[in-house]
Amino acid sequence: MIIFQSLTKTELADLLLPVSVVKYERDLMLEEGGPEKVLLKKQKQALLRARQIFHWVYQRYVTDFDLMSDLSKDLRTFLKANIQIYRLTETYAKQSEDGTFKFLWKLEDQKTIESVIIPAALKEKVGDEVIDALEDGKRYSGIETEKAGLNKDLDTDSWARLTACVSSQVGCAMACSFCLTGVQGLDRSLGVHEVVTQIHELRMRAPITNIVFMGMGEPLHNVKNIAKACQILLDEDGMNFSKRKVTVSTSGLVPGIEELYQVTDVSLAISLNSSTDEQRSQIMPVNRRWPIKELLAACRKVPLGGHRRITFEYVLLKDFNDKPEDAHRVAKLLKGIPSKVNLIPFNEHSGSEFKRPTDKTVLDFQKILINQGYTATVRISRGRDILAACGQLRSLFGTARGTEKHKDFTQSSTTA
Ligand code: SF4
Repeated sequence: MIIFQSLTKTELADLLLPVSVVKYERDLMLEEGGPEKVLLKKQKQALLRARQIFHWVYQRYVTDFDLMSDLSKDLRTFLKANIQIYRLTETYAKQSEDGTFKFLWKLEDQKTIESVIIPAALKEKVGDEVIDALEDGKRYSGIETEKAGLNKDLDTDSWARLTACVSSQVGCAMACSFCLTGVQGLDRSLGVHEVVTQIHELRMRAPITNIVFMGMGEPLHNVKNIAKACQILLDEDGMNFSKRKVTVSTSGLVPGIEELYQVTDVSLAISLNSSTDEQRSQIMPVNRRWPIKELLAACRKVPLGGHRRITFEYVLLKDFNDKPEDAHRVAKLLKGIPSKVNLIPFNEHSGSEFKRPTDKTVLDFQKILINQGYTATVRISRGRDILAACGQLRSLFGTARGTEKHKDFTQSSTTA
């Protein structure tokens, strides 16, 4: 059986070609160039059917071919015999006090991954006017949910923006010392269908507006699958996300950046976290192989266009990388790169000894960057009470740190 969510629309159309029927095929074959004309008509028809099926699954949330009423009976029989629509099993869903929802999904091999929905409202309706809300995360009741019958417990109607933070691997090989996922080591990478279905399942529960690959795993360590999944996410007949609303975040796998942009042009975030190689190598082993200079050179080559910027994430660790001189060095490093900086005060957890800096330290750091002409925001941590905040995701059945796979990674190539 072929899994539907592993297919791009063009691949699905190719599969449907043998069951495409063309009217007056015999007459056409007798004309000049007949076989080519027939093939062309069949390809067009197969693409049309693929579009219809994409609509049913990704836009109408139908997972039973028998309910796809505008497809012929023969086609539905073919689909049922050859293609499976994959589902993930929701093991639990837990809501934080601030509205953040964390999900644990069970995969076919019983391994588990987590994803998080982070609600935020940037606009608030006052009378007939829509104005900027005073604080991120403020509740707003003006948004309409297009999809009926969703999980009402999510209270999704209250938020203007819902960002899905999704996983790309079971565990992670990168061993960043401040990250709970890094503590467990890599188990395996997710398949295209697992990545796409994870997002599809979230969309079945809430009207997701943005996607960030910042959950468990290093997306560019699984770049082939993530790039293909992004193609499906951006397909106008599929989930139809804008490339600006899908962000792949990397710890700095330089070859993966180029590979990603050969296939898709989603947005990019770099987990920078340091202003010198010495410092960065201490907390992110990937830096020993691809130091800051190489990473930023790769960033300069990213074909963003259209006033888009690369987001540089910077986890602020108390007394480690939070000094004014760090901020000045970051400003110097990013010179000439269309960028914005997202400062993330560290979320303390049992897997790391790092501490969270004071609010004053964070604001001073931010001020230095702003004074140097950068857009610098401080991420409001959401879901800390349920371990859903940045760097706090971990599969319940994960492996322990220091596995062979873990050691292998820093000495081997990027693709899983
Ligand atoms: S921060 Fe990202 S890349 Fe680093 S260990 Fe955690 S999940 Fe992996």
